[in-house]
Amino acid sequence: MVSPTVSDRRKRVFIRTYGCQMNVYDSDRMADVLRPLGYDLSESAEQADLVVLNTCHIREKASEKVYSELGRLRALKLERREAGSDLTIAVAGCVAQAEGEEIARRQPAVDVVVGPQAYHRLPQLLAEVARKAALVRAGKRLPGAGVLDTEFPAESKFDHLPSPGSVRAGSAFLSIQEGCDKFCTFCVVPYTRGAEYSRPVSAILREARALVAKGAVELTLLGQNVNAYHGDAADGSTWSLARLLREIAEIDGLVRLRYTTSHPRDMDDDLIEAHGNVPQLMPYLHLPVQSGSDRILEAMNRGHGRDLFRRHVDRLRAVRPDLALSSDFIVGFPGESDSDFDDTMRLIDETGFASAFSFMYSRRPGTPGAALADQIPESVKAARLAALQALIGRQQHEFNRAKVGTTMPVLFAEAGRKPGQVLGKSPWLQSVYVDGSPSLVGRIVDVRLTDGYALSLTGQIATSLEDAA
Ligand code: SF4
Repeated sequence: MVSPTVSDRRKRVFIRTYGCQMNVYDSDRMADVLRPLGYDLSESAEQADLVVLNTCHIREKASEKVYSELGRLRALKLERREAGSDLTIAVAGCVAQAEGEEIARRQPAVDVVVGPQAYHRLPQLLAEVARKAALVRAGKRLPGAGVLDTEFPAESKFDHLPSPGSVRAGSAFLSIQEGCDKFCTFCVVPYTRGAEYSRPVSAILREARALVAKGAVELTLLGQNVNAYHGDAADGSTWSLARLLREIAEIDGLVRLRYTTSHPRDMDDDLIEAHGNVPQLMPYLHLPVQSGSDRILEAMNRGHGRDLFRRHVDRLRAVRPDLALSSDFIVGFPGESDSDFDDTMRLIDETGFASAFSFMYSRRPGTPGAALADQIPESVKAARLAALQALIGRQQHEFNRAKVGTTMPVLFAEAGRKPGQVLGKSPWLQSVYVDGSPSLVGRIVDVRLTDGYALSLTGQIATSLEDAA
């Protein structure tokens, strides 16, 4: 295999990210892996030498959307070739893992297919693409131009990534756990991301400190089952997420700490307590419940009932009364009756959410749910989803309106939609718009809230900016 070398010319990579924050983190890390090879980030495929589609398999027809994007990229590649240059196309992420060789078979313009556990090997894979291209130019006939790596390697990719990751506007993601052993019957993650794996404590603390040193005031710890975290520490002990959060909270300069995505089964006492006594831990928790019906939760193989979820919520609110709760809901799981759906609506009504992600069930090939007989008609699913989203929407609007008149610290993230506006996040992860200068981005500044809408709030800067953090 040709060894990767640092190019004497800077090249450009465009990374399109689909899906969750784990994928945003992975895209950043791919950019980190590619930088030493001479790749700077590009804003568009048209300006890039290399395009990476970092795909997600959660949504319906995810792979079809990827193939349609690949068709567009193929046309771009052909244009380039006619002009005497080239475009390298890589497919990464969960669709790459799930589809494997099928991707290069259906779309031969694809050069690299790399699974989520193997992207640290991108340099070697690109070197292999270059070697094959050189052989083809020399007149050799090859069985296929693409290279594939969808292994779950024995070594962790985290040991091979440059550290630390990226800090954007004072905020950074830090992946601490990956994979899942729970096998919910609707979900592909255990198949695409592999078995549950927790990074060692020392590596996480090193990365957390480095991110804060690079300017992060907010860290979000990521994992598919982040609260199942059980990492090895140097003294031979095993740390839980709560212990890790307490240690990271001590880092000088870190103001905000979050974690996502958690599972009700893994909310232990210590973690619940941490919400009451770790001030850096923001008053927001995304805790997916999926359904309010015990019968459906069992069919989903969730391993918990509605009571456990309700008990967690009560205990969390006892230690942190202002906690904003978010969740995931799937409507129309096979066999879901009107009365099961009513149970879900009742759970939402009783709990009160500040936001939620909700979807109609759709079959994922290879998952047990896809083979269940009692699939629900699309029209029924759509009606249930509309009712559920209307209820969550009312709760979210109410939650936002209740903050009007208060003053809260906002971490500014980017320019707003309107000229002269900046957008930031409240401690409760609400979007807050104020009139202000782009120099606010990356800073935490007190804002007095003036209006609350369905999805956001507006406000005015309440501090003298010299005093702001
Ligand atoms: S807990 Fe269930 S939904 Fe979450 S990643 Fe694992 S299998 Fe998927």
